[in-house]
Amino acid sequence: MANKVPITVAHGDGIGPEIMDASLRIIQAAGADIDIETIEIGEKAYLAGHTSGMAPEAWDSLRRTRVFFKAPITTPQGGGYKSLNVTARKSLGLYANVRPCVSYYPFVATKHPKMDIVIVRENEEDLYAGIEHRQTDEVYQCLKLISRPGSEKIIRYAFEYARANNRRKVTAFTKDNIMKMTDGLFHKVFDEVAAEYPDLQNEHWIVDIGSAKMADTPEDFDVIVLPNLYGDILSDVAAQIAGSVGLAGSANIGEGAAMFEAIHGSAPRRAGQNLANPSGLLLGGVMMLVHIGQSQVAERVHNAWLRTIEDGIHTYDVYRRGVETGVSKQEVGTREFADAVIARMGKQPETLKPVSYAEGSGIKLATYTPRPPAKRELVGVDVFLYSNDRDPNRLGDAIKAAGDGDGLALTMINNRGQRVYPNGLPETFCSDHWRCRYFATQPGKPITPTQIVNLLNRVQAAGFDFIKTENLYLFDGEPAYSVGQGE
Ligand code: NAD
Repeated sequence: MANKVPITVAHGDGIGPEIMDASLRIIQAAGADIDIETIEIGEKAYLAGHTSGMAPEAWDSLRRTRVFFKAPITTPQGGGYKSLNVTARKSLGLYANVRPCVSYYPFVATKHPKMDIVIVRENEEDLYAGIEHRQTDEVYQCLKLISRPGSEKIIRYAFEYARANNRRKVTAFTKDNIMKMTDGLFHKVFDEVAAEYPDLQNEHWIVDIGSAKMADTPEDFDVIVLPNLYGDILSDVAAQIAGSVGLAGSANIGEGAAMFEAIHGSAPRRAGQNLANPSGLLLGGVMMLVHIGQSQVAERVHNAWLRTIEDGIHTYDVYRRGVETGVSKQEVGTREFADAVIARMGKQPETLKPVSYAEGSGIKLATYTPRPPAKRELVGVDVFLYSNDRDPNRLGDAIKAAGDGDGLALTMINNRGQRVYPNGLPETFCSDHWRCRYFATQPGKPITPTQIVNLLNRVQAAGFDFIKTENLYLFDGEPAYSVGQGE
């Protein structure tokens, strides 16, 4: 057995304290060798003026232990409060969100008796970077950032997870038929990393049809790795169709820290009544035990828990009355459920598949090695304008006259991605947000930033209202910008 591992524990709000007590009692009865530091988070911390939901001393504990076992909290309604989860993820660099979504048929009702999926969601970038702007009266923008290190880390994590947990296949979902550069990078990195794991199958689906397929035949999937937004949505879909939102745990993993929790919230209406199901948090605790290298303890807890569910010892949310099913035998409260799991310690399930965690199945990724920088050449610029003149031809002719010169020429204007000048269609609806694309007049001859500054001066002097620019580059000779629809 390893030395006592320090962990930071937060009992949270609502049902949090009850399910945390139950979960800790179970993992300690299984022989977990942990040293608990308790911190206060959630409603009380928010109301005491800590906008992140956590006092500074609590952050000190987390930075020390780097393992966070967290019960759900209540986020107070109203403005000014930041999501504790988002803050913890970002400040501790928790790049991977891992959520097993398993059905426990026939003991828990589900339409998908054979489902056993693990969703691995990228946690730090994509549309969740929180970089949003209102640019005109009509148009708002959210930046979608996908990086090579971010993609490599999460995809490699998914393959390592699959290998460590005896999984057979890793699937990626993206929308790279539309977002050819951002989702295209994620897909490309997926193919590159997949080639390093010949022992595992790999496949890619476009996220729309892939999601439909996952909701219909989840048994065809195994580990699924996704960029942040798709992962956020699909991890809830997967947990719901497994029939077990109340039973799912999740891990947030970073290079130097990790956080483990249930996926549900603090269920305030059920608080203090010894009713809540501690299973989601307990399964988060099982993932924590694997992470800290106590795989055998994790296995004992998980198998005793499966046996309890199988024996029909159920909290109210899982309990089903009558002869209809015959699987629920006894309705119990939070404490009695924990007692029942403890009483089954050392036992294995008989109908459900027992779990086994290999010794040392915690995952350690190799450090990311940056690639040598590509040869980057500036060849043009997109100038975004705010204009209420909705006639693209009048706007185009005027800006062309103002903009051309100094080695740059207008090649097209588009409106929300659709080309409207030259030769646009009169049917295209135009907002007040225009993109004017300028390229070097001598093809293949790079331009200088000063030419762009001069262009903006001419555009401004002619009375146009530019709101932002995007430089157009070639990276190693390849265009590093999307072409407009109809360009
Ligand atoms: P919730 O998950 O707390 O509850 C939804 C429903 O599920 C309720 O009907 C509840 O009775 C039931 N439920 C949830 N967990 C259960 C359990 N362990 N056993 C039995 N029944 C359970 O979602 P909500 O009501 O939308 O949110 C309540 C609060 O929780 C909000 O303040 C929200 O911000 C917060 N929240 C916190 C987290 C977190 O800390 N990670 C996650 C989600 C929501």
